[in-house]
Amino acid sequence: MLLTDSHTHSIYSFDGQNTPTEMCAAAEKNGVSAFAVTDHVDIDCILDGLYPPYDADGARRAVETAAEAYAGRVEIIRGVELGQPSLRPSEARAFLDENRFDFVIGSCHNLAGVPDFYFMRFEGMPDAQMHSLFRRSLAQLTETASFDGIHTIAHALYPLRYMARSGRTLDLDLFEKDFRALFDAMLASGAALELNMKAIRTGEEPWAWEDHLLKLWYDCGGRRVTCGTDAHKASDIGIMIAEGYTHLRAAGFDKILIPAAGGPREIPIPQVN
Ligand SMILES: [Zn+2]
Ligand SMILES: [Zn+2]
Repeated sequence: MLLTDSHTHSIYSFDGQNTPTEMCAAAEKNGVSAFAVTDHVDIDCILDGLYPPYDADGARRAVETAAEAYAGRVEIIRGVELGQPSLRPSEARAFLDENRFDFVIGSCHNLAGVPDFYFMRFEGMPDAQMHSLFRRSLAQLTETASFDGIHTIAHALYPLRYMARSGRTLDLDLFEKDFRALFDAMLASGAALELNMKAIRTGEEPWAWEDHLLKLWYDCGGRRVTCGTDAHKASDIGIMIAEGYTHLRAAGFDKILIPAAGGPREIPIPQVN
């Protein structure tokens, strides 16, 4: 067992580029022994008609086909990235119960009635408004962490990368109380903290932000972590995961939660050279 990738997107996400079978080929090439396909289900946006519905049956069949073709070479795990479940809790609950994914990521891409942070512009926005938006995203993640069946909390710093794109930044120390509330909820539910490599890979986010977050999680008693590329194209699967392991170890972690058939399991962080 070397590299594993717990966060990837296929063509069953509106913004994913490759089929699960193509993803297995790339994973094998990039030295990834196991990865989860975690396509987007932003449940509020789907129910409001902003995003197309998720083709759960098509995605399941595509992952099964890939799993058969790559049996014994690459393990592909059927997962999902569930966005904003606390905005539509009963529908989100029914969706998870019906689909029984092996790996479930919880994330916050948008607040109620507010567009995805990806689409927002922060140039000229008053600091107080930026602080409020970020604080609300952490509060929403706190609700998500308490949602039964969420294995890991993804990209907790998601709004920051788009603030940075607008040339703005936030002092993370101002939000320690909010992070502690989130981490308390995660400790209570058993959810892991994800080290998300996407914005680091693209240069939108400095390592210092993720290191800060990992340290705070560790200081709060958090020991459960996941590491995912958030690849939207197959060739990105596994990229920089080894570097992620180094940062996890530097923050004090010695184990990692990885996707597996029947549910995630914890293993020692692999030594990769
Ligand atoms: Zn996401
Ligand atoms: Zn994602």
